Amino acid sequence: MKISELLQTKEITISCELFPPKKGSELQKAHELVQDMAKLKPAYISVTYGASGGISEHTVDMANEVQNVNGVTALAHLTCASSGRDKIHAVLGELKENKIENILALRGDIPEDLDFPLQNQYRYASELVKEIKEFGDFCIGGACYPEGHPEADSIEADIDHLKRKVEAGCEFLTTQMFFDNNILYNFLYRALKKGIQIPVIAGIMPVTNVNQIKRIISLSGTILPQRFRAIVERFADNPSALKQAGIAYATEQIIDLIANGVGHVHIYTMNKPDVAGAIMKNLSEIYIV
Ligand code: FAD
Repeated sequence: MKISELLQTKEITISCELFPPKKGSELQKAHELVQDMAKLKPAYISVTYGASGGISEHTVDMANEVQNVNGVTALAHLTCASSGRDKIHAVLGELKENKIENILALRGDIPEDLDFPLQNQYRYASELVKEIKEFGDFCIGGACYPEGHPEADSIEADIDHLKRKVEAGCEFLTTQMFFDNNILYNFLYRALKKGIQIPVIAGIMPVTNVNQIKRIISLSGTILPQRFRAIVERFADNPSALKQAGIAYATEQIIDLIANGVGHVHIYTMNKPDVAGAIMKNLSEIYIV
């Protein structure tokens, strides 16, 4: 099913993200991971593409496993920073063959060793969106950044660029993680004012260990509210308490979003079905499959 239709027909959707294994030898473990995640009955499962802008050999396989083996709609991520048009067209062909009809079109981070952009290749995700649209019948999503993308000159300029990406053919947007819902509400207001009217899916990251938090701060510069910092400081030396608190914090964020009319939520699961499952359980009377 196309995600655009799903978002129209359901008032509340909870979806999950998985990342594929780096090595083929880890594929067996990935099968089990997909199975465990599918049992939670998310509205769809997204599968990331590479990391830090790199390419991925297993995204299509894993999306196929999600959708054609486990019966859950798949959203395949696709980045273009490190890929030429031939590679992109080859992946689009594979997705078509596997009847994967949803793509999250991304530029990807620019690898440090890359002479970017490759000659006559993609510079921004909007160019990829346009090309996927021309390729054929895919439902295309894009990324957005409630706190602004780190490379953007200003939040205002970032929203202008986002508008262009939407006009190129995005049918929905998924946000970067955020830990203070007011940041999202503020962003939604600004996006709407700019005339961006497609559904925005709120990306929620349950933080369950201290290293994850350090990585988040160093990579994205995401604001960590005082309430959240207090939890981390209090339970830093007690992994199971921190995990429980991280699940509770994410649950609370999601309940507040839904209560305030943001019905579509995507959980960055970090390949942890137990964490996603605990959140789903907390929402069992709110998100009815
Ligand atoms: P773009 O939309 O192209 O924006 C990149 C920057 O360029 C922004 O600062 C924007 O303001 C600016 N810009 C855009 N258009 C113009 C223009 N016309 N003129 C001037 N400036 C412009 N990375 C991965 O490697 N694999 C993944 O699977 C992956 N999944 C992600 C999923 C989500 C939901 C999110 C939020 C991010 C994901 N990322 C992933 C990270 C993402 O690839 C990086 O954040 C990347 O740096 C930007 O990608 P983008 O598609 O948002 O780029």
